[in-house]
Amino acid sequence: MAVDYYRVLGVDRSADAAEIKKAYRKLARKHHPDVNPDNPEAEKRFKEIQEAYAVLSDPDKRRQYDTFGRVDGAPDAGFDPFRRTGSSWRNAGGGFRVDVSDFGAPGGGFQDLGDLFGDLFGGRRAARAAGPRQGADQEVEVEVPFQEAVRGTTVTIPVQRQVQCGTCGGDGTTDGRACPGCRGSGVVVSTERLRVKVPEGVADGQRVRVAGKGTEGRGGAGAGDLFVRVKVRPHRFFTRQGDDVHTTVPVTFSEAYRGAEIEVGTIHGPVRAKVPPGTSSGRTFRLRGKGIRNTRTRAYGDHLYTVQIVVPKVMSPAGEEAARAVAELYQSNPREDLPTGL
Ligand SMILES: [Zn+2]
Repeated sequence: MAVDYYRVLGVDRSADAAEIKKAYRKLARKHHPDVNPDNPEAEKRFKEIQEAYAVLSDPDKRRQYDTFGRVDGAPDAGFDPFRRTGSSWRNAGGGFRVDVSDFGAPGGGFQDLGDLFGDLFGGRRAARAAGPRQGADQEVEVEVPFQEAVRGTTVTIPVQRQVQCGTCGGDGTTDGRACPGCRGSGVVVSTERLRVKVPEGVADGQRVRVAGKGTEGRGGAGAGDLFVRVKVRPHRFFTRQGDDVHTTVPVTFSEAYRGAEIEVGTIHGPVRAKVPPGTSSGRTFRLRGKGIRNTRTRAYGDHLYTVQIVVPKVMSPAGEEAARAVAELYQSNPREDLPTGL
């Protein structure tokens, strides 16, 4: 659960530095452990106030907190609109501890924690290097129907990105006050509709990289990349295995017994295919090059069709006679090689 630092200090979200300082001083005096001896409640409250002030009095941390709802020591790592992690602050045993399990962002570092702790406990505040930093990568998932994955398609994805505030040009202030456009954070979240080309033959779970569409970099560094993870909706008839496509094809007893040329539906359209004489149910045949195009090698997989003999449901004396005649054709019991138990 995220801590609302503004509420802790009892100030408005648009409060300026002077208001924040004033509120902090007033509360710190009231809840200071020296004036509340042996009062764990006051001590806890005092620490909350310190924590809130440490973040809101620092323009960098305040901006980060306003944008992410937390301060985690990894200011540039993975602004991810599709993932929400709670506040990671823990107050334990008199010191501040950070629950590392909440740090979901890739590349998250702890280089700023000492800095923040130093600030909290009156230590020396190390200046953070404000050099250029590459933006983080982002990932989104998109679902496409089987046929679009096979043929390739273009998808439009709404992507939320952090961009520089246009009102203040990223400064966070206008006329010495917190910028109304970004509430002093210097960045705003913009929703962009990105058109992304999904290549022919894309497989379920495959990622398409869109260079430079991740989080914006800082200090002139490049943006991260956007990875579009493609989820392929299964098809009713066609199933994919690697680059091959599998289907089951029903045939009549006569076609299976005498052999036939049948039409087999493939992702490339109907193909005339052979069922050799004496074909049993379950036999699989291959149509070369009628499968899915591999996104890397550009080579086509095959289509495999499995024959399934269907038996007529209508019973008639003629059918009875024909079936009896067919039974005569078996030279042995078809189950004679099967084990009768474990
Ligand atoms: Zn602004």
